[in-house]
Amino acid sequence: MPVFDVLTVLPNLFSGFISEGVIGRAISSGKVDLKIHNLRDYTTDKHRTVDDVPYGGGPGMVLKPEPIFRAYEEVVKQRQKKPYVILTEPWGETFTQKKAVELSKKDNILIICGRYEGVDERVKSIVDEEISIGDYVLTGGELPAMVILDATIRLIPGVLGSEDSLKADSFMDRGLMGYPNYTRPAEFKGLKVPEVLLSGNHKKIEEWRKIKSFEKTYRKNPETIKKLIKEEKLTEEEKKLLEIAIKNIRDKIE
Ligand code: SAM
Repeated sequence: MPVFDVLTVLPNLFSGFISEGVIGRAISSGKVDLKIHNLRDYTTDKHRTVDDVPYGGGPGMVLKPEPIFRAYEEVVKQRQKKPYVILTEPWGETFTQKKAVELSKKDNILIICGRYEGVDERVKSIVDEEISIGDYVLTGGELPAMVILDATIRLIPGVLGSEDSLKADSFMDRGLMGYPNYTRPAEFKGLKVPEVLLSGNHKKIEEWRKIKSFEKTYRKNPETIKKLIKEEKLTEEEKKLLEIAIKNIRDKIE
């Protein structure tokens, strides 16, 4: 079973995340093992101190190295294996679906959540990779850790009810975006579900979905489409559907 450990000074932030929804079920049904470790449990002083002032002065506090190293050593001991260690950092490599796929194949991951001004630089000696969830600064690494865990764990075989839904996800099929979804009622406040989805014609539905997926991808990330054409990764059928998608976009603009 894939195992995940998280080091944080705010373990309560994870309570809903580990008990609800897909992730909660993955843990309770034993598909994954996820443990949240309170960094303060790895301190040795009366005040359970995890931070200190930065050497050289300056604002804010820095997470001390000792509790992090102690927690890391404990995780290695408990899991009897060196984990793949991720540190959340705003300037780290930007998290993507491709990275989630890569991480979902690892069997042992430890995420260290930064806080305050970040961690003592020496912590990097045990870190395999620094990951950012985007170019903005949050108060801590807990939300990034949850983003990384959520995107990664849902890809682990058996975690989602239907593995087919993964194939239809944005970015999973050659970087293409997912198609739009509708459910009942067929008409709501004058807004109608596209006729083709009610037709029962599976081939036509597949084609419509592919066209919509091409339209979305072309609008959001035209480079992906250009790359697919250049690298000849589209079937003849798909090339025709792509032409329709591009025409649809042009018609809307004109
Ligand atoms: N002084 C740091 C800087 O200039 O980049 C910012 C520290 S931030 C207030 C505290 C912690 O939140 C960081 O050490 C990191 O662990 C986490 N964090 C904040 N924004 C993040 C992001 N976009 N991606 C990943 N982690 C982030």
